Parts: sequence; C-alpha cells; structure tokens
Amino acid sequence: SGSGNVRVVVRVRGFLPREIERGAANLIEMDPRNQSTTLHPPPHDSTKANARKVMDKKVFTFDNSFWSFSRDDDHYADQDDVYDALGEEFLDHNFEGYHTCIFAYGQTGAGKSYSMMGTPEHPGLIPRTCRDLFERIESNNSPSVNYSVRVSYFEVYNEHVRDLLVPRRDPPYYLKVRESPTEGPYIKDLTEVPVRGIAEVLKWMKMGDNSRTVASTKMNDTSSRSHAVFTLVLKQIHHDMDTDETTERVARIRLVDLAGSERANSTGATGARLREGSNINKSLTTLGRVIAALADDPPQKRGGRKKEVVPYRDSILTWLLKDSLGGNSKTAMIACISPSDYDETLSTLRYADQAKRIRTRAVVNQDHLS
Ligand code: ADP
Ligand code: MG
Repeated sequence: SGSGNVRVVVRVRGFLPREIERGAANLIEMDPRNQSTTLHPPPHDSTKANARKVMDKKVFTFDNSFWSFSRDDDHYADQDDVYDALGEEFLDHNFEGYHTCIFAYGQTGAGKSYSMMGTPEHPGLIPRTCRDLFERIESNNSPSVNYSVRVSYFEVYNEHVRDLLVPRRDPPYYLKVRESPTEGPYIKDLTEVPVRGIAEVLKWMKMGDNSRTVASTKMNDTSSRSHAVFTLVLKQIHHDMDTDETTERVARIRLVDLAGSERANSTGATGARLREGSNINKSLTTLGRVIAALADDPPQKRGGRKKEVVPYRDSILTWLLKDSLGGNSKTAMIACISPSDYDETLSTLRYADQAKRIRTRAVVNQDHLS
C-alpha cells in the first residue's frame, strides 16, 4: 500500500580533525539490535550557561540508526549500508510507479552532503541511485517496456530558486515558482535534461554540484545556507502484447540536501554568528512548522473540524516539496548528527522524532494511453 509514515533514520559520523584537536568526547551510543540512539550529556560542562540547563541522557528510536563513527567497529555503517537500507527499496518503489523523496537534515558539518552526494571514493545516495537505476534499465531485456529518464538540479538560496544545470550568471538568474491545478507547484523554465546512461547523468550531477561549490567558496559558505534538490524522473511505457494496451508510469525521485539546521535556530547556543537575524533561513523554519503541523495532524483527524492549515506556501522550499512532505510520495529523512555537539544533536533528534509521525499517501502514477 502507498500509505505510510515518513521513514526516519539517523546517522552519526566520526570525529573531524578539529574535534580531535579539542579533545571532543563522543556523546552518541547506538544499539544495532533495537536501532536505538542514545545522546549522553557532555562529561565536563563547567560553563555557566550550560550548568543551569538540564542535560540528561536522551534515548530515541528510529527506523535505522547508522553508526558511521569508526570504521573499526563491527556495526560500522558505510555508504553501501545506507544505500541497501534505504536507497534500494525506494528505487523499487519508483519502478512500481511511486514518487519518492529522501532528504538529509542536520547541522552544518554533520554529514548531509556526505550521505547524499558523498565523495569520489565513497559515493553517496545520489550517485548510487543513478547507477542502480540505469543498471536495472539495462538489465531489463523485455521489448514491451520503454524507459526514459530526465534529470534536474536546483537550489533554493535566500528564497530564490537557481538552476544548477545552467552556467552561473552575474548577476544571478532566478527562476519563478508557479502552481498548476493538476501538477501542483513547479519551477518555471527549470532545465530538465533527458539522460540515456549512467555517464550522462553523473556528468550533469557533477556539473550541478560544482555550480554549488563554486558559490560556496565565493560567497561565504553558501552550501550551508542553501537547499539543493536533485530530481530524477523515470518514465516507463509498457505495452502489453496480448491486450494491446499501453500504460505509462511516471515516478519522481527527489534527493534533497537541506541547509544546515542551525540556520533555523535564532537563539541557538552554538555561536553568536547564528543569532544574527540575516542568517535565519525562512525555508528551514517553515519546514519545521510544516513538519510540526503534519505530525499533529494524523489522518483520522484530517477532514475533521480541527484540521490544521499546513503552511506550505510560507516558503519556497516547502511549497515546492509539498507533495513530498504531506502528499503523494514515499518519503524518508536522514537525520545527520555530529558525535560531540549536545545541543544541536538534541534538536536534530527531536526534529527527526517528530517527523516519524507524518503520514503520506502515495499512489501509483499510472495512465492508460490506449
Ligand atoms: P554537511 O553537508 O552536513 O555540512 P558534510 O557531509 O560536508 O556535512 O560532512 C562534514 C565532513 O565530515 C566532511 O569532511 C565529510 O567528508 C565528513 N563526513 C561526514 N559524514 C561522514 C561519514 N559518515 N563518514 C566519513 N566521513 C564523513
Ligand atoms: Mg553540505
């Protein structure tokens, strides 16, 4: 069935050099048997602000807890494990004709881009999904199915949409969001390129990613403030030889690398720069409100008198992802956490815990052509 809860997984990365340098402690414990994640209070906390706060051990349970802290550990989860637990199944759904969305959430430096894009040596969910997609297409020899794939890649920065598959322009060129009564919200004039194989799609993926990276070195870490949305559209045209019937299935695969979650907390305790009003990310704060509204609005309540208004239209990102968050999509969230940051990690785990309560209702997107 297409109705179900948002799948929520958590992933903790290992120490970065700067954390080793300051002698950071690991606050995270995961139990591979029951998928629980425990956040422990920091061992030495002498600062006044923190002494007054209650810092307890907190336990959460998610659909998966990925331990990527140390490769030496038995239950270490590498990129392959994350793909096997999530990416592969979601691609199955795409071939069945369902839309899917996987988004990565977490503070800057927690491992969102590593999980979604990865590195050349350790490719993440996006390149693995592309590879698996074309492997499946190429291994299907049935003459009755015809496949086509299109790709697009855009970012939302400061409530503007920028196409990542066209060369950068100075001044930057932004696209407009429109809403169609049948298709819902969409980006007008967004580049969507047909791709015929893995090499082509990886070429576009890299081009778009470079476009993002160039911006981040020039403009003081754009990537921590921007949301990147990579989309594949898989179309299958199936011709039944016996009945002479032609059906078309269209599935959208959305892979989202969100801005750093610290951008949503104006009062975050993680640094003065984050308290500057200009750094608050409207799309991210609205995403929090959308998730809260959806989590408080179980299906049995929908249609009732107390139906909540979900504020999708209050930001560009939530407007565009409306379907993925509360509608026709199978959706998963990867909550990325650092091992040594109590406040930000607690806020990410609470956010993820709330997202577990969201239900979506995916349908097979199929049309009879003849
Ligand atoms: P974000 O996109 O959330 O800001 P990154 O994905 O860029 O964070 O991760 C920050 C750093 O940590 C990068 O150098 C990245 O390679 C490394 N890293 C993150 N997650 C992992 C992981 N699971 N295993 C190994 N290295 C990781
Ligand atoms: Mg990143």
